[in-house]
Amino acid sequence: MPARNILVINCGSSSIKFALVNEAHGQFSLSGIAERLGHPEAVLRWQRGGEQDSLMIPSADHRAALAQLLPLVQSAAGGKLHGIGHRVVHGGEHFSNARKIDTQVLEAIRSTAPLAPLHNPANLLGIEAALKLYPALPHVAVFDTAFHQSMPEHAYRYALPDALYRQHGVRRYGFHGTSHRYVSHRAADMAGLSSGDSSWLSAHLGNGCSTCAIVNGQSRDTSMGLTPLEGLAMGTRSGDVDPNLHSHLARALGWNLEQIERVLNQESGLLGLSGLSNDMRSLEQAREQGHAGATLAIEVFCYRLAKSLAAMSCALPQLDGLIFTGGIGENSPLIRSKTVAHLKLLGLALDKEANARCIRGVAGAIQSYGHPRVLVVPTNEERQIALDTLTLLDS
Ligand code: ADP
Repeated sequence: MPARNILVINCGSSSIKFALVNEAHGQFSLSGIAERLGHPEAVLRWQRGGEQDSLMIPSADHRAALAQLLPLVQSAAGGKLHGIGHRVVHGGEHFSNARKIDTQVLEAIRSTAPLAPLHNPANLLGIEAALKLYPALPHVAVFDTAFHQSMPEHAYRYALPDALYRQHGVRRYGFHGTSHRYVSHRAADMAGLSSGDSSWLSAHLGNGCSTCAIVNGQSRDTSMGLTPLEGLAMGTRSGDVDPNLHSHLARALGWNLEQIERVLNQESGLLGLSGLSNDMRSLEQAREQGHAGATLAIEVFCYRLAKSLAAMSCALPQLDGLIFTGGIGENSPLIRSKTVAHLKLLGLALDKEANARCIRGVAGAIQSYGHPRVLVVPTNEERQIALDTLTLLDS
């Protein structure tokens, strides 16, 4: 059978990220983004074989953008597209695995929207548009939350009245599951261990950041909760704060819910602390030049990350390795070394040269000799979504 092609789609409220994944190749045959959908300046940008191109698609909605994409995909796939994998942020308690999309699955995604009011409706827009444009192809939904459905109840329950969980689904769900799953499998391969018989701490550090404890291929705990705001300090998200902060801001400053949500989700984290940027590259440069806000933001980021990893270690029977991934985890020797410096009690220490070498897609072990394994593993959520889609096509 010739190698198959899967189109992977990740729909936001005004954007569609896409990648055409061939099961035999590591590189995407086509990838890109349609942005500012619904606006006069809507644009489709793509990369194919090292070449970049773009097309203005004024006021295009999700369906119009996908229709523009269709001939590009068909040409890059040589006319042979085998299925579509959709990233869906929140699967609630309905999904612990990827699922072929049918009316029941659509209804379950819709019913989970109250838990992810920004994300699930946008994901549905993309799925519905793609179903209309590609009715003959199998469509698969891959959920960010699904991997974490294996968490034990003591890890996923909040210490809140039982009815809030039973009647309203208030519990910890976790996100970034596709990435934590992908890198933990890769880490086991790199270490010559079986993913079904090994234990990992994983730190996914992109614009959103989370940690995960993975035992024998299953998530046992993770730092994000009911929403992606819980846990680490991130690009613009605060991560954990005192839950009474909300009422304090309302009473002391007269802020309403929208203001509080905006500050915690979009104006906090690295951006809020530094007063400069949510982008770690910019902060590292500013720190070099002595910028106090950037220096503080980096210190808080690394300390909070280390604290979360130490907490996650409670879920492991043993530690086969710590994994760094995501834009920051894959590219920043500084953040990796500052974080590991806080984890001496876990016995962790880095080899300076190996740490410096693992950037820009270079994977590898970076621990110093005789210390527990620390791996840099580039994530590839699109590939994992394509692999999940292929597995369902085969079943
Ligand atoms: P997303 O969560 O949007 O997919 P990424 O995984 O691409 O984000 O990560 C984005 C983050 O990675 C940004 O903070 C960016 O500054 C950081 N990053 C990328 N390259 C480097 C680098 N060389 N050094 C430090 N941080 C980097």
